[in-house]
Amino acid sequence: MKIVHIASEFAPLAKVGGLSDVLLGLARATVERGHDVTVILPKYRCIDIPCTQLADYPPSHTLWRARYENVPLILVETAQNFFNRDNIYGEPDDIERFAYFSKLVAAYLHTQPPPDVIHVHDWHTALIPLLYQKTASILTIHNLAYAGACGLPMLEKIGLKPSPALQCADYYSLLQGGLTSVDQITTVSPTYAREILTPEYGGPFCHYLNKNKQKLSGILNGIDYTYWNPESDPLLPLHFNLQTIKQKGRVKELIKKNLQLNPENRILVSVIARLVSQKGPKLIEAALRKTIAEGGQFILLGALSDAETERHFLQLKEEYRHNRNVHIELTYNEELAHLTFAASDLLIVPSLFEPCGLTQMIAMRYGTVPLVRKTGGLADTVFEGRNGFSFGAATVEALHEALDRSFACWKWEPKRWQTLVRNGMSEDLSWQKPSEAYERLYASLSQSRTITSASSATPTLVAPVL
Ligand code: ADP
Repeated sequence: MKIVHIASEFAPLAKVGGLSDVLLGLARATVERGHDVTVILPKYRCIDIPCTQLADYPPSHTLWRARYENVPLILVETAQNFFNRDNIYGEPDDIERFAYFSKLVAAYLHTQPPPDVIHVHDWHTALIPLLYQKTASILTIHNLAYAGACGLPMLEKIGLKPSPALQCADYYSLLQGGLTSVDQITTVSPTYAREILTPEYGGPFCHYLNKNKQKLSGILNGIDYTYWNPESDPLLPLHFNLQTIKQKGRVKELIKKNLQLNPENRILVSVIARLVSQKGPKLIEAALRKTIAEGGQFILLGALSDAETERHFLQLKEEYRHNRNVHIELTYNEELAHLTFAASDLLIVPSLFEPCGLTQMIAMRYGTVPLVRKTGGLADTVFEGRNGFSFGAATVEALHEALDRSFACWKWEPKRWQTLVRNGMSEDLSWQKPSEAYERLYASLSQSRTITSASSATPTLVAPVL
């Protein structure tokens, strides 16, 4: 099958969060299953790989062909300098940037033989199925909290007509445009697929999703087993697997030396996350304070995105500046992330909601026991007693109780701890099963499109011109 993904991130070339990992992992797995896959993404400034010019289309915009390992890419460069910037997101004109990108990609697709399926991801590319309806389409919701919301003036500015297909509550949403026009909506875990049918998680989309349940399903993400592999990870000083797990202890010693942490053998607890409200910053702070009070060590690697959270965590960092059991790094740091996954004993993921979550899965692959809040994909991957610890209520008390259980296990029941580590490392968290599930979906969608194509073409709601 010919499959075209269109997305705003692709790991490790343009990475903000898990969306990028999914694009790499899913695209690579489907290439390996013999499909003709292309990933189309904006040509951001941070993408620095060899490219060849594919087309000047339309004039003054450039499409580049490139490749990341075995995954073919098309990089889109716009004349307006929408993407040759320092940030992937968080620019005041994000709606315009990604709407323009989507229109450009739709226009390009119109010049090409139709693929079997187009697969778009989150609000950034959700407009494409609205503009290009020649083929079967899937929209994956990686996080419903990001709606691509705008008012009428912005809608008109990006050249779209107000339409019920884009209407969501009292505003317009590019994500809604995608939901209404695709053949199939997937989300990144079965539990999150059920959660977003409730007002609490589904918010303004809940009504539409409930009415269209038949086209919604949840497919649990995998992790890319080549990129996340403790046996060969180029960012690790030492490698290990289930049989050589003792080496993990050496990685812990080395990281403590590098970060000038106290060398005594204490439980090493970590958090690796974007510090946004979804990730439970109050619970992250509570986990840090409790770990230190109980004599453990803590690494917090948190990427910042808003000024208030930044101020708060800078204060926390200042408070613990002289404490040799704490390392707080408030940035995005790929190398430290890999080292921390490999060196830690326990990784905390106390999210208020979590569509899938990858860090708990990466942790397990690296022999680190996850402690998570039971929500979304965290509830689908971490099971207390089998491979980790979990808690239900989003409260400091519930978190503290789970931490107490995990600290006691590490300290007094090392055999049981090792069983958790072994079970985690033995889970199949790869893209094998999820990519088979997507493959089945692609096949059935493109087949039903072929059968009904003549009669069911939906009228195009907005002109696919730039
Ligand atoms: P989200 O997509 O909501 O950020 P996920 O758990 O799905 O959460 O994916 C997070 C991805 O981003 C993982 O690959 C994780 O290692 C990475 N990551 C998160 N924060 C950082 C950071 N501060 N530095 C480096 N990598 C990070």
